[in-house]
Amino acid sequence: MSNRIIVIGGGAAGMMAALSAKEHGGEVLILERNDRVGKKLLATGNGRCNYTNINLNINNYHGNNPKFCYSGLSEFNVDSTIEFFERLGITPAIEDNGKVFPLSFQASSILDVLRYEIEDKGIELITDAQVAEIKKKNGFTVILKDKSVFVGDKVIIATGGMALPSSGSDGNGYTICKKLGHTITDVFPGLVQLKLESSLLKSIDGVKFPGMAGIYIDNKLILEDKGDILFTSYGISGPPILQLSRTALEYLNKEENVELRVSIIYTKTDEELLSYLVNRFKLMPRKTIEAGLIGLINKRLIIPILKETNIDKNKEISSLSKEEIRKLANILTSWRFNVTGSQSFGNAQVTAGGVNTDEIDNQTMESKIVKGIYIVGELLDIDGDCGGFNLQWAWSSGYIAGLNASKNQK
Ligand SMILES: Cc1cc2nc3c(=O)[nH]c(=O)nc-3n(C[C@H](O)[C@H](O)[C@H](O)COP(=O)(O)OP(=O)(O)OC[C@H]3O[C@@H](n4cnc5c(N)ncnc54)[C@H](O)[C@@H]3O)c2cc1C
Repeated sequence: MSNRIIVIGGGAAGMMAALSAKEHGGEVLILERNDRVGKKLLATGNGRCNYTNINLNINNYHGNNPKFCYSGLSEFNVDSTIEFFERLGITPAIEDNGKVFPLSFQASSILDVLRYEIEDKGIELITDAQVAEIKKKNGFTVILKDKSVFVGDKVIIATGGMALPSSGSDGNGYTICKKLGHTITDVFPGLVQLKLESSLLKSIDGVKFPGMAGIYIDNKLILEDKGDILFTSYGISGPPILQLSRTALEYLNKEENVELRVSIIYTKTDEELLSYLVNRFKLMPRKTIEAGLIGLINKRLIIPILKETNIDKNKEISSLSKEEIRKLANILTSWRFNVTGSQSFGNAQVTAGGVNTDEIDNQTMESKIVKGIYIVGELLDIDGDCGGFNLQWAWSSGYIAGLNASKNQK
């Protein structure tokens, strides 16, 4: 009885799938297009690898049917992930918002232990092997770009999405899946910086502050988040912006007008800030308004904000009208920008969209279109929030595919 399982792609999901398949009795071969596995893992979590999150919730996942991932995330859950990596030598360190990192705070630790385990368990690995096509005929024939051929009983496709294409995941997996009969939903960058419309961006490029940002459609708040925000020459970045980006782009794709409201001072309401400013300005009536805002907000924001409110920077505070002070309070609690787009996949952390999950059995990750094919990780139409959720999906889906592919031996 043989059960040769070919795993295409040696990223997070592929490596986990291979280890799980081997653990459950499969004979495993990994084909990786790069000269080494796990290139993207090294870039995760700013080089620290946020490999899961103890506060995981199904609401952290998105796609046409986010419930698809519930079963996988429950079967190989956060505890399973932490235990799995502890067995491999990774001591977990839990940081803010439940994010879990290796205590070494080095993404390379996660990759090193996975590589060690793959070698130790005798899993065959061929690098510089880019798969072009899979054909079903008495099992599967996997054909590489250079026309070499490998034969297997089951195939797990773990080629990733399109985020950070230089890491090897450039969307070519969609072509492989389409040739097998799968459909691909619209794909767009997720967890990505946003482009804004404003003539002031050049002057505020590089200004960073702890703030709050919200996506508004027709004056209705859709989603907001807070944390460090960074203005850039093209728009805006920082963890809260990445978190909002999927929603912003979803609405933009529907040709809606998407407004981003940025609160530079979010600890006070508009009215509270207004009365605070009135009192503050009473203490400094002789100062210009430019000097009067020093110490309240980042100095580099003062002139742009005065331009935006049409207040002369040299105006003496005592001669400011109530209306002008109100405008200032307004913009400091809710600076409005039109979102025009996002940075490209090269800057994104994840791909929104992918292989249609209706075509996959969520208990096993097996294709409903071609039996014996399993599809996992970011290649599927599932993407998570920032915070370790995407890697958890890669581990969970990879583990389940490996487990199920190694069942039903021939
Ligand atoms: C900068 C950055 C930071 C991130 N930080 C985090 C984080 O801290 N926490 C978190 O949870 N998520 C993070 N993510 C997201 C996370 O890394 C991905 O969601 C996850 O790696 C997806 O795993 P995957 O195995 O599905 O795909 P990938 O990791 O992309 O792996 C796919 C593999 O398949 C190979 N491949 C592609 N095509 C072929 C082919 N035709 N033949 C053979 N091999 C092929 C690729 O070379 C690659 O090695 C980050 C992403 C980026 C870009």
